[in-house]
Amino acid sequence: MLKILVTGGAGYIGSQTALHLLDEGYEVVILDNMMNGHEDVIPNEALFENQDLCDIDGLEQVFDKHDISAVIHFAAGPSIVSEKAEALPSYYENNLKGTLNLFEVMRKKNVKNIVFSSTAAVYGIPDSTPITEEMDKNPINVYGYVKYMTEKILADYNRSGLINYVALRYFNACGADSDGRTGELHNPETHLIPLVLQTALKKRDKIYIFGDDYDTEDGTCIRDYVHTEDLARAHVYALKKLFEGKLTAEAINLGSGEGYSVRSIINEAKKITKVDFAVEVTERREGDPDVLIASSAKAKELLDWQPEHDLESIIKTAWNWHKSLE
Ligand code: UDP
Repeated sequence: MLKILVTGGAGYIGSQTALHLLDEGYEVVILDNMMNGHEDVIPNEALFENQDLCDIDGLEQVFDKHDISAVIHFAAGPSIVSEKAEALPSYYENNLKGTLNLFEVMRKKNVKNIVFSSTAAVYGIPDSTPITEEMDKNPINVYGYVKYMTEKILADYNRSGLINYVALRYFNACGADSDGRTGELHNPETHLIPLVLQTALKKRDKIYIFGDDYDTEDGTCIRDYVHTEDLARAHVYALKKLFEGKLTAEAINLGSGEGYSVRSIINEAKKITKVDFAVEVTERREGDPDVLIASSAKAKELLDWQPEHDLESIIKTAWNWHKSLE
């Protein structure tokens, strides 16, 4: 049985992917330093290593202990990154240094294949949508820079014959496991759908819309929402293509190709939860483009992947998850 190392497997998308790998008959070793991870979402059937990627000796021991066939690399600092002087060095250390250690240990142990968790934030504010993979990459925050740098490093490792990779650039990850085994647990929470559902649960007084004067039909920002079960499936497809040697160095968008405005998310959530919560329009948030929608043509062509969950299913599964946390 193939054993897959899932770094960051105690996180939101990592745990969903670990569950899917197990369902597909892989063995899973979750590696997480539990800085942002949650014990409750580590699948019982997975092996678990509480290990920091920055500790290269410890990391090497994990590879010595387990016969790792490939890596799926989620582990990263928080996606909302403070650029304050005191936070920045440790962010770079946790992310870039940890990632370089991982690549070095893979080289040493002759593990060739990796699926890397990247982001639509590599594009920054695009000139047009839908966003295709070859469009300019101009990240506007540290999170986006580090993910893009890592993609560049992977490309170098590939040219040197050390690593084959697929970098998956997620658009707005959302939803929860259909069987309620894992879901979104960010702290602090900043993402729209969980905040909306927490408002429906009366954990918040109201939901704020960050600006309704954008260049969209209802004035609120449009995003491409994609369910974590669909993302998880894409990781396993990418892994299979790497094992088959059909992909060796690719960056692929994961989005639905469809966009929903902030207002339409709120309206759909009101319909599903049957709660009429308070909504207030407030100032724009810095760095929010009007519209971010993926071209999903490459994912369809190279991975034969397309999302199965629609918006209703995204909000329903997320709602069940949030209610289960009560
Ligand atoms: N948003 C909002 N109110 C909130 C949180 C988010 O209006 O309390 C908006 C945000 O400005 C963006 C969209 O919802 O246009 C999605 O934001 P989120 O933080 O979920 O994901 P992002 O697109 O920033 O990765």
